[in-house]
Amino acid sequence: MVKMTIAEGRASGIRGRLGELCYSSGLLHSLQRARSWWRKDLRILAYHRIMDYPDPDTYDFDLELISTSPERFHDQMSLLRRRFRPMRLTDVAEALDAGEALPPDAVAVTFDDGYDDNYRVAFPILRDLGIPATFFVSTGHIDTGKPFLYDWLVHMLLRTGAPSLVLPELNIDMPMPARRDEKRALAGLVLLRMKDISALEQSAMIDRLERDWRMPSLCAPAQCRPMTWDQLREMHAAGYEIGSHGVYHRMLAKLPEDEMIREIRASKATLDRELPERAALMSYPVGGDRSFNQSVIEATREAGFRAACSYICGTNADPSTNRYALYRLPVERDMGPGWFAAMLTLPKLMSYPTIHHETGSDPVAACSP
Ligand SMILES: [Zn+2]
Repeated sequence: MVKMTIAEGRASGIRGRLGELCYSSGLLHSLQRARSWWRKDLRILAYHRIMDYPDPDTYDFDLELISTSPERFHDQMSLLRRRFRPMRLTDVAEALDAGEALPPDAVAVTFDDGYDDNYRVAFPILRDLGIPATFFVSTGHIDTGKPFLYDWLVHMLLRTGAPSLVLPELNIDMPMPARRDEKRALAGLVLLRMKDISALEQSAMIDRLERDWRMPSLCAPAQCRPMTWDQLREMHAAGYEIGSHGVYHRMLAKLPEDEMIREIRASKATLDRELPERAALMSYPVGGDRSFNQSVIEATREAGFRAACSYICGTNADPSTNRYALYRLPVERDMGPGWFAAMLTLPKLMSYPTIHHETGSDPVAACSP
C-alpha cells in the first residue's frame, strides 16, 4: 500500500513535469492538430468535487474526492472551449444510434456523486463558458441529504475517540493511530480493502461503526452536502444532463442480482419522477471493473439507459463498441494546466497513473469513492 503510493507519486511527478514542459513549449497544440487527423477518440473527463484545497488539519472529510480548485477548473474549461469540441453525452448516444462518426477532438465533461459544489461552483463556470456537462448523482443521497457513505467513513475514522479499530471483515484489528495523517492513511486502507467485500457487508460495516461510535450519518454537514432536487432541476433547465450514480452508491456487481436490478431501476425511476426528462445516462458507482459486469450492463440497458460510464482510465476509439462501459480520464487535484492539456492531447501517455483499460492491472486503483 505504502509502496504503491510512493510509486504513483513519482509517476505523477514525471507526468506533471513533462506535461508542463510540452505545454510551455507550445508543442501541444501542434501535436493535438496532428493527432486529430488520425485519431478521433471520445475523451470523457471525470470529476468529483470542485473546491479549494482545505486545511487537512481541520477538514474532516475525504481529500481524495477533490478533483481541482475553482480557478483551475475555470482554466480547464476555457481550454476545452478554445481547443476541443465539448459534447453532451446524449448527443454522443444520438450519433451512435444514427451510425454517425463523432467530430474530431470530442470531449465530454462528467461529475460523479452529486456534491453541492457541483451546483455552487462548477455549474456557473460551465454555464458562463457554454460547456455542456453530465452530473451523475446517487439519488438516495439527493432524496435524504445524507452524506455519501465512503466520505462519512473517512469522517468517522478521523473524528472517533475509539481507542482501536476492529473490522474483522477487512482483517483489521489495530489501535487507532494518534496522528491525523496516519488516520487518513488508515482510512485509505479501509476504503481500498472494502472494495473486496460485498456491497451488503460494506453497508453493514459502516452501519455498525455509526452505531458503536455514535456517529450516525443523518444530515450532511456543509462540507460534504449533496445537491438538492431543486438545484438539479435548475441545472437541467439550463441544458445540463443529470444521470444516475445508483441510489446509495453501492458497487452494483457486488450486490445480489435482484437487488442490483432494483437499485438501477429505482435510481432511474426517481430521476424520471424528479426531472422533466427521462434519465438516459448512468455512471457505475466506484466504476472499476469489479464494480460492474455483464449482468450490470444488461440491467442498465434494460432499465432504459442509453449509455454508461465506468471509472476505468482511457479514451473511446469507437464508443459504439463500449457504450455501456465508456472509459474516462479522471482529473486529479495535483494536475497543473500543462498536465491537464497534455492528458487531453496524449491521453495514453499522460493520463493519471491509475488502471488503464489496456493494462488489465488492479481495478481497485482506478476507483475513487
Ligand atoms: Zn462515485
